[in-house]
Amino acid sequence: MNGSPDSPRPVRPGEFPLWEEALTVVNRDLDALLPGRGPLRLLALPSWDEEEAEDGAGREHVYVALPDGRWHGNHLWHGSASDPDTALAEVAEAAQETVLECLWQVWPVCGEHGLGMHAGQEDGRAVWWCAGGRAPGGPAHVRAAVGELDAPHRPRRARRKLR
Ligand SMILES: [Zn+2]
Repeated sequence: MNGSPDSPRPVRPGEFPLWEEALTVVNRDLDALLPGRGPLRLLALPSWDEEEAEDGAGREHVYVALPDGRWHGNHLWHGSASDPDTALAEVAEAAQETVLECLWQVWPVCGEHGLGMHAGQEDGRAVWWCAGGRAPGGPAHVRAAVGELDAPHRPRRARRKLR
C-alpha cells in the first residue's frame, strides 16, 4: 500500500458489481485473442475535476487497467454502472483503449477481415463490430457478442477442414 491519497486503488469486490461482471466477460475475450496479457482490473482514482462533483459522480473515477496498473483513455462513464449491457460495452471500449495504447496491440481483430473491431451495442446487447463488409462496399458487420470471441464452433470447423 502507498499513502498518497491521489494514487490509484484497486476497486473493492462488490463496489461496482456490473463493471466487475463486465470486466470478467471482457477478460475472456482478451484471453481468447491475446493470452497472457490479462486479466485487466479496475482501478479507482480521485476525481480532480470539481465541476463533475455536481452530478454526484465526481468522487472517484474508475479505469480499466493492465495487471501492472497502467491504463490509457477515459474513465468509465458513471451512468453505465447501472445497466448490464451498457456496462459491458463501456468496459469493452475502455479495455480496448488500454490494450491499444499501453501494449500497442490492436485487439480484438476480426478473423474475417483482419481489422480492429469496435465495441458497441446492437439491440441493447454489447457487441464487437467490424467495419469490413461481408460484401465489397457492404455495411459493417457484428462479429460477436462481447465475451464470445472464443465461440468454440468456429475453430473446430476449421480444424476439420484441415484434415
Ligand atoms: Zn470483419
